[in-house]
Amino acid sequence: MEKRGSVLMQKYEFGRLLGQGNFAKVYHARDLKTGDNVAIKVFDKEKVLKVGLVDQTKREISIMKLVKHPNVLQLYEVLATKTKIYFIIEYAKGGELFNKVAKGRIHEDIARKYVQQLISAVDYCHSKGVYHRDLKPENLLLDENGVLKVADFGLSALVESHHQESMLSTVCGTPAYVAPEVISRRGYDGAKSDLWSCGVILYVLLSGHLPFYDLNLMALYKKIGKAKYKCPNWFSFESRRLIAKILDPNPHTRISTTKVMESSWFKKGFNSKPDKMENRLINVASSSSSVDSDNVFGVCENQSSDVEENQALVKPTYLNAFDIISLSAGLDLTGLFANNGDEDNVKFTSMNSASSIMSTLEDIARVLKMTIAKKDGGLLKLERSKEGRKGQLSIDVEIFEFTESFYLVEMKKLCGDTLEYQKILKEDIRPNLKAIVWVWQGEKQ
Ligand code: AMP
Repeated sequence: MEKRGSVLMQKYEFGRLLGQGNFAKVYHARDLKTGDNVAIKVFDKEKVLKVGLVDQTKREISIMKLVKHPNVLQLYEVLATKTKIYFIIEYAKGGELFNKVAKGRIHEDIARKYVQQLISAVDYCHSKGVYHRDLKPENLLLDENGVLKVADFGLSALVESHHQESMLSTVCGTPAYVAPEVISRRGYDGAKSDLWSCGVILYVLLSGHLPFYDLNLMALYKKIGKAKYKCPNWFSFESRRLIAKILDPNPHTRISTTKVMESSWFKKGFNSKPDKMENRLINVASSSSSVDSDNVFGVCENQSSDVEENQALVKPTYLNAFDIISLSAGLDLTGLFANNGDEDNVKFTSMNSASSIMSTLEDIARVLKMTIAKKDGGLLKLERSKEGRKGQLSIDVEIFEFTESFYLVEMKKLCGDTLEYQKILKEDIRPNLKAIVWVWQGEKQ
């Protein structure tokens, strides 16, 4: 905790705490030389080292040198001590934009003003090869004049870790703003996925609620994957049309940022030459007490290199909530994939590949002398040839991919006798699945 009134390197005087996450605390501060307000984001160096984000953080700090736009919170300077890293950032006095939406939806013309600023910032950053990867309400701040400022642009290493934390601490954290291709982890284009998040933000501004919402994460995932949303009747024809083009689940056919900026909805009242921003240079490498991105971790790099190397072996490049789940051995996801007491519907998670899950299921079908009535992508339909007490037993199995090494398998009885289903489930299916099941959902470990 930085004490109020304490001075950092004879340059900044700390004020009140503005917010905090797992990795960082954000303080209001005053530049002692100019008297200007700034925000200081304080990272615990050891925490960043522990999760092996050093290289990415260094890279992102150098990228931030490239980013200078009136709608992007500017990184002024990076300072470091033995234990901490300090990001000196432009101060956004107006707080979070969504505090406004929390009071209800906003008028289309006002929403347009914010979206114009947001898309301009996003388009500018993309032109520099910088992607946000976590655009959401908490990252949209306002300055004292109500100008939108996007926070954490280019800091995806720290943003994602922050995201991890929030997902972990709430367990049912929501990927409400995340593009379908990011959730399914099929490799994605940062520009297209950032634009999807902008589409969700536009919808929320106009409606006052999320386009995709479900308490059950699987159901939410399905809605996002199919872009299943409804526009309230007060949405104008033009805004509906634009939202539909942005919230296209296929990133290849999704509209581009350039095309959004050319749309009549966007162009209405748009000032393409925003006010000149204060010409304050990012001071990452030039000042004597500032540090360049390579030196940020310099002080304790040697002690922690082992940690870093070990982490690098097991850690995927980009962690998302699902990675955390998959890395947390034995974590029961009951809350996320609620069964609602339906015993005919069982679920398990697996760290095996989709093809090995599928071939295990096919082997089981052969053992049980069940026919494969349908096989389509991750879907398998098994049928018993002989009629049971209540007709032919039919089981549906669906495999959902969270990451390349983490799957959820849902199995349910479509028709037939429940007792017969429960019996083969207990005596044949479960024992034969043992090798590939990581955790049965909704059961005591
Ligand atoms: P963060 O850890 O970046 O999500 O920041 C936590 C909270 O601190 C944000 O949601 C904001 O409310 C506040 N905050 C972060 N950066 C700034 C800033 N530059 N100016 C004013 N408030 C900020």
